[in-house]
Amino acid sequence: MLKIHSRCTLACDYCYMYELADQTWRLRPRRMPLAIAEQAAARIAEHIHAHGLTRITLILHGGEPLLAGPNLITQVVTSVRDEAGPRVRVDVSLQTNGVGLDDGYLRLFDDLNIRVGVSLDGDAAAHDRHRRYRNGQGSHAVVMAALKRLTAGSYRHVFGGLLCTIDVRNDPVATYEALLDVNPPMVDLLLPHGTWTTPPPQRIPDSPSTPYADWLIAVFDRWFTAPRQETRIRLFEEIMHLLLGGASTTEAVGLSPVSVIVIETDGSIEQSDTLKSAYHGAPWTGLHVSRDSLDAALLRPSVVARQIGAKALSPECRECRIRQVCGGGLYPHRYRSGNGFANPSVYCPDLFRLITHIRQAMVAGIAARVARWQ
Ligand code: SF4
Repeated sequence: MLKIHSRCTLACDYCYMYELADQTWRLRPRRMPLAIAEQAAARIAEHIHAHGLTRITLILHGGEPLLAGPNLITQVVTSVRDEAGPRVRVDVSLQTNGVGLDDGYLRLFDDLNIRVGVSLDGDAAAHDRHRRYRNGQGSHAVVMAALKRLTAGSYRHVFGGLLCTIDVRNDPVATYEALLDVNPPMVDLLLPHGTWTTPPPQRIPDSPSTPYADWLIAVFDRWFTAPRQETRIRLFEEIMHLLLGGASTTEAVGLSPVSVIVIETDGSIEQSDTLKSAYHGAPWTGLHVSRDSLDAALLRPSVVARQIGAKALSPECRECRIRQVCGGGLYPHRYRSGNGFANPSVYCPDLFRLITHIRQAMVAGIAARVARWQ
C-alpha cells in the first residue's frame, strides 16, 4: 500500500488517519516525492524477485490519493510495473472518497488499468452523518455524481466496489439498498475502528449487547436470501469461506498472516494503517525504503505477532470454539492500554453472534437444498 498523499479533501469524523490516536500525518510530506516513489518501486521489485512472485497488488491510498495528481499516479504505477518486469502481474487499485473523481481521472484509470474503490456510507442522511467537508457540508451529492460518471458510461469496468463504514443508527437494510443503487461489484462493510481503551461508538466494552451483529445480521439476511446475488459482500463471503475450512484473505477475520505493508509519503515502511486507531506511532517499524528491504519488516516483533496465527491470540480467544473463523477480529480492535493486543476483540460479542448466525443460515440453506434433491 502506497500512501501517495497524506491529506484529504474531506474531514470525516471517524477517520483513523487524522481523528484517532496516531497523529504522525502532521509530520509527513503532503505528497510522496518522486524520488521516494522510485525507491518504493525498487523495493517492491526487490521483494518480488527475492520471492519469485508472479502477481502482486499495489494499493494507492491516502489521505486522498487523487490529491497526488495524475502525473504522480502515472509515474508510480509505471515505475512499479517497469521494475517488476513483464512476467509479473501488478494489479493496481485506488481507494478514493469520490470527491475529485472526474472524467480525466476515469480516462487515466482506464488507460493504466487501475480499479477504483469509492467510500459511500449509504443514502444522503447516512453518508453525510460523517463524510463531510471541513465546513460541515455533506459530500453525498458530489460522491453520487462521481459514482454516476463511474458506473453509467464506458468506465464501469474500472469500478472496484464500495467501502461503507457502519453506523448502527442508520437503518441496515436501507443502507444496503442505497449501496445497491450504484450496482457495485463488491461491498466492504467496515466496523468503525476502536479499542478497549477508546471504544467504538455504541459498543460498550464488556456488555453482552450486540448492536453491530444485529445490524450486520439484518444486511446478511437480506443479502443471503435474495433470489439472485445482487453484489458481493467481502465480510460475509470471508466468514462463509472460513466456515467451510478456507483461509481468510482480509485482516478482519481469520488467522491468516498479515500480508500488507504500507509505504508512507516520506518513505517510512509501516504496518497496516488501521493500527493508527490504537495508539500514536502504533504502525511504526523504524524502516525506510532508502535503506531497508520490505522483508526487514518481518523481523519486527509486532509483525511476527501477526504472522503466527492462533499462538498470538489472547487466552480467551485460544479457548473460543470459533477462533479459526473469528481469529480475534481485526488486530487493532484488540488493543487495551496497559496490556497491548493480547485481548479478544472489543467487538467480541458481535463477532460471536454474527459468525454463529451465518453458520446457522448456511447449515439451514444446505439442509433445504439436500431435502429438495431427495
Ligand atoms: S468471538 Fe471473541 S473470544 Fe472468540 S475468537 Fe472472536 S474475539 Fe476471541
